[in-house]
Amino acid sequence: MRYAQIVLDIPTRQLEGAFTYAVPDELVNEAQVGATVLVTFSHRGCVGYVMEVSDELPQGLDASRVLPIERVLAEPAFDEPRARVATWMAAEYACPLSEAVRPFLAPGQGFRVRRTEEGGPWELVSEASGPVDERWVSLTDEGRSFQPRKTAARQRALLAALAEGPVRMAELSALMTGAAGVVGALEKRGAVQVETRRRVRGGETTTLSSAHAARPERLTVGQRDALSAIAQARHAASGDVVLVDGVTGSGKTEVYLDAIEAALAEGKDALVLVPEISLTAQTVGRFRSRFGDDVAILHSRLSAGERFDQWDLARRGDVHVVVGARSALFAPLFNLGLIIIDEEHEWTYKQESAPRYHARDVAARLAAECGCALVLGSATPSFESLARCEEGTWRGATWTRVEMPERPGKAVLPRVRVVDMTQQFQQGNRSVFSKPLVEALQAVVERREKAVLLLNRRGFATFLMCRDCGCVPECPHCSTSLTYHERTHELMCHTCGRSWPQRAFPDPSTRCPNCGSRYMAAFGVGTQRVEDELRMLLPDDVDIVRMDADTTKGKGAHQRLLEEFDASECAVLVGTQMIAKGLDFPEVTLVGVINADTTLKMPDFRSAERTYDLLEQVAGRAGRGERAGEVIVQTYWAGHPAIQAVARHDRDLFLAAEEADRSEGGYPPFSRLANVVVWGKNAGAVKASADELAAAVRSEVGTARGWEVLGPADCAKSKAKDNYRRHVLVKAPHDAELGTLLGACARGVTRRPGINIAIDVDAYDLL
Ligand code: ADP
Ligand code: ZN
Ligand code: ZN
Repeated sequence: MRYAQIVLDIPTRQLEGAFTYAVPDELVNEAQVGATVLVTFSHRGCVGYVMEVSDELPQGLDASRVLPIERVLAEPAFDEPRARVATWMAAEYACPLSEAVRPFLAPGQGFRVRRTEEGGPWELVSEASGPVDERWVSLTDEGRSFQPRKTAARQRALLAALAEGPVRMAELSALMTGAAGVVGALEKRGAVQVETRRRVRGGETTTLSSAHAARPERLTVGQRDALSAIAQARHAASGDVVLVDGVTGSGKTEVYLDAIEAALAEGKDALVLVPEISLTAQTVGRFRSRFGDDVAILHSRLSAGERFDQWDLARRGDVHVVVGARSALFAPLFNLGLIIIDEEHEWTYKQESAPRYHARDVAARLAAECGCALVLGSATPSFESLARCEEGTWRGATWTRVEMPERPGKAVLPRVRVVDMTQQFQQGNRSVFSKPLVEALQAVVERREKAVLLLNRRGFATFLMCRDCGCVPECPHCSTSLTYHERTHELMCHTCGRSWPQRAFPDPSTRCPNCGSRYMAAFGVGTQRVEDELRMLLPDDVDIVRMDADTTKGKGAHQRLLEEFDASECAVLVGTQMIAKGLDFPEVTLVGVINADTTLKMPDFRSAERTYDLLEQVAGRAGRGERAGEVIVQTYWAGHPAIQAVARHDRDLFLAAEEADRSEGGYPPFSRLANVVVWGKNAGAVKASADELAAAVRSEVGTARGWEVLGPADCAKSKAKDNYRRHVLVKAPHDAELGTLLGACARGVTRRPGINIAIDVDAYDLL
C-alpha cells in the first residue's frame, strides 16, 4: 500500500503539518506529490495537497484506521523539492503549511468544499479559471460543394459563415441559436470538421524601440567575470549565490540574458524575477527579443485566465524561461538551472500578506533544493546580501560578489549636484524647483533633449519639518523620526510607543528643536502640483508626461505613458518612485529629484538605505547614451551620508556610516527582526492579546544574548478599517530560528473572537 502525506486546505495555526492518507491502487499514477486531492476529514469532504508519497506507514499509525484519498482533483502543481521548500516556509515564516503551499498552486484554480444547507450533504465547488479550450469549426473539402436541402436554412447560413475560414464555436453560437446542433449534423455528413485548439492568454509585446537592443559585440571585463562566476555556481549545483554588484547601466541585463542562454543550451530552465513596476516596461521586451516564444510572463496586471495560461505553459514544458514579479518564484519549472533576481534590494520582493516571505531568501532555499544557481543583481545591493558575501557563506551556500563598476562603451556615470533647499528657502525661493534645477531644465529644452523628475513620496506618514534647517524631531529613546498625527496634534514614536503633544516637544513653543525657527510645517507636495508648475515654467512645445498611481491605473497605462515619452522629441517625465528604475532612454540627460528627504524621515531603520537606493537608481536614468547626463538632488539634509554618497558616487561612504548605526542599534543584518501585529475591532481584546504575546516571547527568550523584545506599542497605522492595531518588535541573533519560536508563542495566546495575529519575520514594513 502507498501512503501520502497531505496538507489540508484549512488555514489555521491550530492544525499543524500534514496528515496521512492511503493511496488506492487505481489512483497511484495520479496521486503524485503536488496533486490536489479530495479526502475526508472529521466526517466531511476536504481539499488537500500531496506533500509526500511513500510505501511505508508512518510509525504509530494503525493501517486499518487510515482513510483513503477519494479523488484526484488536479495534476501536480509542484514537485518534491518545492514541497520541501513549502514545509520550510511554514516554519521560517510562522504560517500554517496550507498557506505556505498556496503560492505554488495553479493561479485562479481553486477547489472548495461547502454544504448546500445546514447539516446537509457537502459538495465540491471548483473556482477554475483553468485552461480555455476553444472549438474551431471549418469546412471540409466535401463541405465546399455540399448542398443542403432547401428547407435547411440554418445549415445554409452556417456554411456561408464558414466560407471565409474557420470560426470559433462560441461565435457561431452567438450568431444563431442551436448552432451546436447544426454543426453536429453537418459534421456527420462530413461537411464540416471541429477541432479543439488551446488558446494561450497573456502573451505581451512592446513597441518601445529601446526594448530591442542588439546583442553587444563584446562583453566588458565585469560582464565576463560575472558570467564565469555564474557558470561556476551552476555547475556546483548546490544553490550557490552570485551577487552581480554593477552600477546602473553597467550591463547587468545583458549578463542575465547570456547566463540564461547558457543554461538553456544545457537543457535547463531559467526563472527571472523583476520588480513589478519594470515588468510592463522594457525588460519583458528584451527577454522576448532574445528568447521569443520560449518565455512565459507572470505579473499582477494579468487577468486570472491569462495568468493561468502563462503558468501552464511552464508546467507543460512549452516554455523554459519564466519572467515575472515576486510570485513567479513559485512557477512550475521542474528542471531549474538558474534563478535570477534583478534589483534584489527592492522591497517588492517582500510579501506583505501571508505567507510573509522574502523572495530572495525563498529563492536561496529553492536553489539549494533544486541544485541550481541563484543570481542577484543590483546597483545598490541590500545590506543583507552584502553581509552574506562578506561572510562568504550563508545557510550552507557560497555567496560571491562580482563588481561591474563601469558602463560599457562611451557612457559614463552622470555628474550629481546637491542643492540645499534650506538655502533656497532663506533666499526667498518658495517654488518646488530650486534655481539650479530651473536652469538645468531650460538648458535641456534648448538642446531638445529629455528630463526625468522624481517626486519622492512614501506612504501616509507625515512629519513636522523645519523649513529653515530641515530638522525633523526624533524620539530621544529610539532615534526614530516622530510622525505627526493631525487629528490629535501629537508627535509619536512608533518603535517604543511614546507620544508627545506637538506643543510640548521639545519645549512649549512650536519652534524647531534644532534652530529655533517658527517654520515647522507638515511636509508633502503632489505630482499634480509639480506638473502645473512645470507647465508654467516651460514652453508649450515641451511634452510633460506624468506617471503616478492616478495616471497608471488602467491596464497598459504605464506602458502607454512610457511610449509617449519615448516617441516625444523633447519631454519631461514627472513621476513617483515608479520611474526610478529599469528605464533605459538614451536621450535623457537630466534627472531631477524634487525632494530627496521624505524617505529619509520614515520611522524605520531602513529609511537611509531606501533613500540611498532610490537616489542612486534614479540618478542612473541619466546619461545612458552618448551624451553626458546631469543629476540634481534637492534636499534639506545635504550633509547626510546617503546624499553625500550619491553625490560622489561613493557607496562606501554611506555603507560605513549606516553599518555603524545598525550595529550599534542591533538592527539587521546584524540581527533578525520580526514585527508581530495584533489587530481587531475590540481595542481591549487587542491590547490583552498583544500583552500576552509580548509576555510569552519575553519568558521564552529570557535573558538570552542578542534577543530584545520591544513594545507592545500602537502601530504607526494605529487604526485601519476600524481595526485597532498594536505591535511587538522582536530582535534576535542573526542565526536564530525566529519563526519557529514566534509561531509557538502565538499558538499559546488565548483565542479571542475577532482578534488576528500576523507574524512578520524579517519584516520590512514596520508601520
Ligand atoms: P543594467 O541592467 O546594468 O542597467 P543594461 O544591461 O540595461 O544595464 O545595459 C545598459 C545599456 O548598455 C543597454 O543599452 C545595453 O544594450 C548596453 N550594453 C550592455 N552591455 C554592453 C556591452 N558589452 N557593450 C556595449 N553595450 C552594452
Ligand atoms: Zn530648524
Ligand atoms: Zn521611541
